[in-house]
Amino acid sequence: MKIDLHVHTTHSDGRESINHVMHKAQDLGVDVLALTDHDTTEGWAEASELAIELGIGLVPGMELTTRANIPQPDGSVLKFGVHMLNYLPDPNNVKLLQALEGIHAGREERLREMSELISKHYEHSWDEVIAQIKPGATFGRPQIVDALVARNYFENRDEGFKKLWGTLDGIYVPNRKVPDAIDAIRLIREAGGVPVVAHPLSRGKHRQPGDPYPIENFRNMIEAGLGGIEVYHRENSDEDRVWLESVALEHDLIITGSSDYHGATGKPNELAENTTAPEMLARLVEQATGSRPINLPSLD
Ligand code: AMP
Ligand code: FE
Ligand code: FE
Ligand code: ZN
Repeated sequence: MKIDLHVHTTHSDGRESINHVMHKAQDLGVDVLALTDHDTTEGWAEASELAIELGIGLVPGMELTTRANIPQPDGSVLKFGVHMLNYLPDPNNVKLLQALEGIHAGREERLREMSELISKHYEHSWDEVIAQIKPGATFGRPQIVDALVARNYFENRDEGFKKLWGTLDGIYVPNRKVPDAIDAIRLIREAGGVPVVAHPLSRGKHRQPGDPYPIENFRNMIEAGLGGIEVYHRENSDEDRVWLESVALEHDLIITGSSDYHGATGKPNELAENTTAPEMLARLVEQATGSRPINLPSLD
């Protein structure tokens, strides 16, 4: 059974519409897809209709942008981005909606700032960035890159990311309006959703190969109510997967595997390149009280 629990569309920074992605899923024989656009439930209604029309199971979700704030022995606070998958929450939960509003305001602000900073190196206007974003969709750095690709500065997003944030100093602006990762886990649970930490070791500068694994961070997340870990993801090395799986098993957490598809020209990630076991999805659905999956096949 092919179960892919992490997919983006043009409602955030994916390059393909829901319609396109779900037809592709059908062609590939995907049984269950989770829609996890960044910080939005915009696509849920359309995806639900398509799920029934195309005979695909749908798990409505989102990928919530959060930030870890880890106190250090020297008194400083280590900060890095954490992406928290939020499956099957109540989309009308007031606290969740408030958090999303803040994140969106912060996303637009920081994108404008970054666009301004980058325009000193690569000429472009804010309107050109906006032109890359479907109305109502979540703003993100990939859309600045898209605007510069449209001007032929870069071939694709990957080259753009490398030549921008991989090369130029002083052009990264964090989103200061995102919730703390621990607060986000509690919020997701309150909204009836199931929090699963996405590509857990791939962000931030908190671990280089050979460094000890940050077990403390995981303990804190687990205490707060973390439901699962996205173990099978292309950004997790084999070594990382072994460690993450052992943490999940030790704490009886759900183990997921997903593509993080962003469209054929968005990222190299192919739809369903990593998948989740049916029994793990069954556990996830069982924990959720905020909303129900659509057209889910039997997971027995
Ligand atoms: P932001 O949330 O605005 O900081 O942008 C981060 C997003 O950029 C992530 O969700 C990824 O989808 C995307 N991204 C990061 N690195 C790359 C890359 N090298 N190529 C394409 N997309 C990327
Ligand atoms: Fe993304
Ligand atoms: Fe992510
Ligand atoms: Zn993602």
